[in-house]
Amino acid sequence: MTSLPIIVVGAGAVGTATALALRRRGEKVLLLEQFFIGHQRGSSHGPSRIIRYLYESERYTLMMPNAYKLWAKLEDEQNVNLNTKCGILNISSAARKSVYTDILSKNNFNFSDKIDHLPMKTCEEFGYVLEEEGGVLDASACLRASFDQFLKIGGKFIDGFKLKDFQDDGKETGFFKDRRQASMLKLTLGNRINTEAKHIRVGVKFRRDNASKLPQRFSFLELFFSSWRFSTFSQRKILSKTVTVYSTDGKSHVGRKLILACGAWAKKILAKTGLEIPLEVIKTEVSYWKVKPDFAGKYDISCFPAGIIDVNNEETGEIYHYYWTPVKEYPNLIKISYHGTYRDEIDPDERDDPKKESSERAKDQREDHKRIIDLHFEGIDSSNPVIVEPCMYTNTPDNDFILDVHPTMKNVVIGAGFSGHGFKMSPETGEILAELALEKEPTYDMSFFSLDRFNK
Ligand SMILES: Cc1cc2nc3c(=O)[nH]c(=O)nc-3n(C[C@H](O)[C@H](O)[C@H](O)COP(=O)(O)OP(=O)(O)OC[C@H]3O[C@@H](n4cnc5c(N)ncnc54)[C@H](O)[C@@H]3O)c2cc1C
Repeated sequence: MTSLPIIVVGAGAVGTATALALRRRGEKVLLLEQFFIGHQRGSSHGPSRIIRYLYESERYTLMMPNAYKLWAKLEDEQNVNLNTKCGILNISSAARKSVYTDILSKNNFNFSDKIDHLPMKTCEEFGYVLEEEGGVLDASACLRASFDQFLKIGGKFIDGFKLKDFQDDGKETGFFKDRRQASMLKLTLGNRINTEAKHIRVGVKFRRDNASKLPQRFSFLELFFSSWRFSTFSQRKILSKTVTVYSTDGKSHVGRKLILACGAWAKKILAKTGLEIPLEVIKTEVSYWKVKPDFAGKYDISCFPAGIIDVNNEETGEIYHYYWTPVKEYPNLIKISYHGTYRDEIDPDERDDPKKESSERAKDQREDHKRIIDLHFEGIDSSNPVIVEPCMYTNTPDNDFILDVHPTMKNVVIGAGFSGHGFKMSPETGEILAELALEKEPTYDMSFFSLDRFNK
């Protein structure tokens, strides 16, 4: 049993980082992917993702130091440059500026509010905070490096495996009050563990309310047919650690744990197990805009930071965001995009279905982009984006991730709902998911990431 691998499904940023985290701990790991490594149909492709410490929710700020260390470690291991430290400029209302400076000061992160050297249009109504440690990760190179490192240290990968279904024989796990009872059960069941897993999971599920009334000797059949009540207090846990994954074309693999890191597909896959998670999958667009000739070079990553703009929705009073990354991947084109969508929820298998597009919303989107660019940037042609690339966000209602064990399938761990901000800390998220799979005490307060929070 112990030689079975831990199976990770989904070779995006999170799944690959998780597979690497497990392999670094010496675990046998099988990483499965429906497409091919580095494909563009999920959420982890493209040349730029913002990395920064600054978060309004401290839980992420706390994860970032380790995430930075892990990116640096990967750079060393693979001898590549993944993170360009160019700084991140936060533009908010002047009133909200202190929200950001307070977090940065509290955590001893360097920042400045001097931006005269940048080709920005400034206005007193706005607050400007330049976080010096911030930068841009080359997402595709990061994924490749993480994947190559995983293979280099002995990880196994299979592409073209589209997970259709899975079965967890540890579904009904059980607990016994003391070691004697647990080992007695093990002895009784002995070599049936592989062949009669279904019976075992029933057998180990139950214990009598009053443990002292357990018979001194009991047979497998007695256990199987009795109706003792489930209880979770105990010292010793007995699990049937077998998970089987099945692909759409009839292949299967057996592991001892399954980690689902399926990005936008998580909702569909988990629904098959009766688990309905309030995930919203949206198509978002990355837009690149032309830098006018007079400003050529001024927005290059060597001299211009990435940034995030808080925008106040005057109708609802809510804040939404735009973000940009400086000129890097395409000469004289700067990426400035809306952190969200102007469309309805989508099915990830139909991301680019033209029937789902609305010309009216596309027009709204263009107008909003133009307004934001003209308000904050000098020398950018805001009439139309030169390149538009599709991507997907998988959002939870509170924008916090889901990092948890499946409520009924105890050998299945879920990493999902990265809500458009999961790339930067994906190596640390991988560590957390690895800890969950290995049943280690979590490093962080996991209540923010639990599935339970949706039931409150
Ligand atoms: C435009 C854009 C900009 C972003 N900017 C930032 C940023 O600046 N900073 C930041 O930190 N984050 C950013 N993000 C968010 C970040 O990129 C994502 O949170 C992260 O990449 C999600 O990774 P993932 O592994 O969960 O998903 P994915 O990358 O989608 O990986 C999931 C994988 O699972 C596979 N899969 C799914 N179903 C199955 C199945 N049934 N069988 C087998 N394989 C399956 C998929 O094919 C896919 O490869 C941005 C996202 C987008 C789209």
